Amino acid sequence: MEKVKVAVIGGSGIYEIEGAQIINELSLDTPWGKPSDSIVIAKIDEALVAFLPRHGKGHFILPHEVNSRANIAALKMIGVEEILAFSAVGSLKDEIKPLDFILPYQVIDRTKNRPSTFFGDGVAAHVAFADPFCARLHELIIPVAKANGLKLHTKETVICMEGPAFSTRAESHMYRSWGAGIINMSTLPEAKLAKEAEICYSIICMSTDYDCWKEDEEHVTVEMLISNLNKNADNAKNLIKSLLPYMGKERTCGCKDAIKSSILTAPQKQNPGQKKKLKKIFPDYF
Ligand SMILES: [Zn+2]
Repeated sequence: MEKVKVAVIGGSGIYEIEGAQIINELSLDTPWGKPSDSIVIAKIDEALVAFLPRHGKGHFILPHEVNSRANIAALKMIGVEEILAFSAVGSLKDEIKPLDFILPYQVIDRTKNRPSTFFGDGVAAHVAFADPFCARLHELIIPVAKANGLKLHTKETVICMEGPAFSTRAESHMYRSWGAGIINMSTLPEAKLAKEAEICYSIICMSTDYDCWKEDEEHVTVEMLISNLNKNADNAKNLIKSLLPYMGKERTCGCKDAIKSSILTAPQKQNPGQKKKLKKIFPDYF
């Protein structure tokens, strides 16, 4: 199978990249099940990229139903080292306006009951997650996004909530009091699993509207929301095309060794069945 180092995970509104030359379409299976859809290997200009729509092509998987372990495992198995993930978000701050882009630096986990680790079942590991997103990718993304004319907010915190219902007004005010800038349903456990899998991961968020705290806002119609989703998707696709020439190079960040020294269970005590699963994505460690 062809090794591809860079992947894009598309969120709401991004189900394919038009104009890309499709090289292959992989229907993969992993020890954790099947990914959200087949993975499209495409060439954009000279850059090779793996594309996976998080919600499936046609959007049939809700955020809490996404099999993130299978998605990240499948990307790892084809050799991916860097992920650009995209997500539509609601804004918790006045200054983060609809159609703005946000590169969050931190995340607060408000999900429930989503499998969030490859480990357990007889093999213990605790990955460091103090800095959930790859700082090296941020340094690549910021100047390119600005050159593309995007209004980009950095140093923000994203709240990842369970959904599928949106927040109550009380919750929305509480998240604002925590200092968070945006809210979505898709950053986790995706980012945690990418970290465990030693893949550089960055989530690029696109604001569609204000979360329900903002009561003076004119009523957001479904048409407005869809229109914003589509405009954001166009901007995201242009950003991807501009970013790819800078990606897939040798990695100088710590992501490539994130789990190496975090596996606690002595080799002779490791559950053989679990070891066999883990070997699929960590051939060097098991
Ligand atoms: Zn990294």
